[in-house]
Amino acid sequence: MNAAERERYSRQILFPGIGERGQQALLESHAVVVGCGALGSFHAAALARAGVGRITLIDRDFVEPSNLHRQWLFDEADANDALPKAKAAERQLARINSSVTVRGQVADLTPSNVAELLGDADVILDGTDNFDTRYLINDFAVSRGIPWVYGAAVGSYGLAMPVIPGKTACLRCVYPDPPGGVQPTCETAGVLNVIVSAVASMQVADALKILCGRWEGEVSHITRMDLWNGGIRQTPTPARDPECPTCGRRDFPFLKPASRPPVSLCGRNAVQIHERERPIDLLALRARLELVGEVRANEFALRFSTPPYEMTVFPDGRAIIKGTADTGIARSLYARYLG
Ligand SMILES: [Zn+2]
Repeated sequence: MNAAERERYSRQILFPGIGERGQQALLESHAVVVGCGALGSFHAAALARAGVGRITLIDRDFVEPSNLHRQWLFDEADANDALPKAKAAERQLARINSSVTVRGQVADLTPSNVAELLGDADVILDGTDNFDTRYLINDFAVSRGIPWVYGAAVGSYGLAMPVIPGKTACLRCVYPDPPGGVQPTCETAGVLNVIVSAVASMQVADALKILCGRWEGEVSHITRMDLWNGGIRQTPTPARDPECPTCGRRDFPFLKPASRPPVSLCGRNAVQIHERERPIDLLALRARLELVGEVRANEFALRFSTPPYEMTVFPDGRAIIKGTADTGIARSLYARYLG
């Protein structure tokens, strides 16, 4: 560490949990943030300010005006230019801390690119908005022994949980299967901006502890918070399940390409998402979507318009998204409105 670094990070070095050794470890570390929206853009800024030497940001979306109330790193110019979030964040982080190396990847994390994008991470932060990607991260992280930190927020409620492979329960020990049906999302249920920063802060604190080598002997916790109705509760993560398909049997089904609902181009400007085992209650979905756009539904199909896109959803979970030929955008819209 040189004199400028020692001065820049002096208040962090004074904090005994980090110290000079911890700071040196942060400077030599690589953190990967998956999803650079509400949670991820906060992670990215905090990690850059803390001096984490290499930061990779993965996101498939563009900045929109409706992101700005909670996505701390972006501004009106980014939304007006519809910049990819990974690139807008990369640019902003260079202004915050020009000495860290930031790589913004405009990509949809899939079984086929997960090794390339996450392979040399020292820690992975979950800034995603969907369970497909979280179960993929969990399988990959456990298979390679890379710690990761799960986080989620909707409404005024959120939770965070670190996963240290071989030491703590993994995501599938706690939630054996992804939830079925339609889940509340920030797009359908709204979100309070400060629950996002609170959850993201918990995740970054765990990531810094992991990178500084301060995890040994710690008990890991699930933190659940509701910043509107009150209540912050931390409970130790449950014990590892020896029968867990991921960390017990080491089966890793989400790393197999077939585990993801396939996506195909369908016509000139439309994408079909072939969900196979996700029955959807179309009338319940209509009730959620009526709050945010124009929607029509009967028992056979639901059509939802969110210009420039139009989404048609079928009871088996299949969907056709018109208005794009980009499969990443189609998956993103599906995750936003169906969870
Ligand atoms: Zn497990």
